Amino acid sequence: MTPPIRIGLVGVGKIARDQHLPALRGSADFALTALVSHEDHTAMAPTYATLARMLDADPDIEAVSICTPPQVRYGLAAEALARGLHVFLEKPPGATLSEVEALSGQALQTGRTLLASWHSRFAPAVGAARAWLADRQIRRVQIDWREDVRKWHPGQMWIWQAGGLGVFDPGINALSIATSILPHPFFLSEAELRFPSNLDAPVAADLRFHDVTGVEIVAGFDFLQTGPQTWDIRVETDQGQLLLSQGGCVLAIDGQVTTEGAEAEYPGLYKHFAELIRHGQSDVDVAPLRHVADAFLRGRRVVSEPLNNL
Ligand code: NAP
Repeated sequence: MTPPIRIGLVGVGKIARDQHLPALRGSADFALTALVSHEDHTAMAPTYATLARMLDADPDIEAVSICTPPQVRYGLAAEALARGLHVFLEKPPGATLSEVEALSGQALQTGRTLLASWHSRFAPAVGAARAWLADRQIRRVQIDWREDVRKWHPGQMWIWQAGGLGVFDPGINALSIATSILPHPFFLSEAELRFPSNLDAPVAADLRFHDVTGVEIVAGFDFLQTGPQTWDIRVETDQGQLLLSQGGCVLAIDGQVTTEGAEAEYPGLYKHFAELIRHGQSDVDVAPLRHVADAFLRGRRVVSEPLNNL
């Protein structure tokens, strides 16, 4: 049996606590060795204030997961690759496309693995949705990603700063699923982004795409949805309607649930990361981030009332 890969984790925030740390504890592929944090978590693992201090103290660390906000991802990832580590990037993989491309080149040059992770692609019904759509004629796609930012992201002001993506922080998850299950490439035709007057990132977006065969794909992203929360992708085809709901956890065909599974995205992601490392490969698909960049390039901007109590 190969020994577990010694891994450090940078940024002990919500996603690290909710998903990364439990997934790493349950993984036979990795041994969580150290943390980088502004806070002290020595009860969990030796904790260092910076990545450099962690690597100076423990030069045998082989890989790192970067779980910070996207605005600081590039510097950390570049430093880790330069120190010879394999790098797992939380989504989105960077604040710009160019910095992700630079990291990709650096990983290739250093012979290390770079994973631009898209956790929603590992939701339990996504593979079944992709398989069902593969040999059907698609007529229309409707994506609804509507959640209450105050419930899911309280106090996370980085989301509202430039590079934080605003409503595209969850919306990019929908785009990561759509780019993985729809059989043809698609591109943005028009968009309207709503920016609160006091913030640098949008709170809502209406997007219209077309695929290369002319099929329309519409998406509504809303960060102020109270009541029922919606993470749905509906696809009309020549042989019935597919509904992928709950962020990829449940698949129904013509109203009948056909696939439903317990959420296990991060164990799947870490298994994938381990396999990439063992095969000397990287996985850096920027398609979801490119669609977001296109929305910022191509979309109309509407300024709405200020948003407070976030
Ligand atoms: P968060 O709760 O705000 O945690 C981010 C952590 O990053 C902070 O606790 C801090 O860790 C560290 N950090 C380093 N530089 C920072 C800076 N300039 N500003 C703020 N924090 C900084 O955020 P999160 O929800 O975990 O999200 C982190 C990333 O994971 C984002 O890219 C997000 O899109 C992605 N993600 C989040 C979720 C979710 O449900 N929340 C789901 C999937 C993916 P220390 O205090 O330890 O230094």
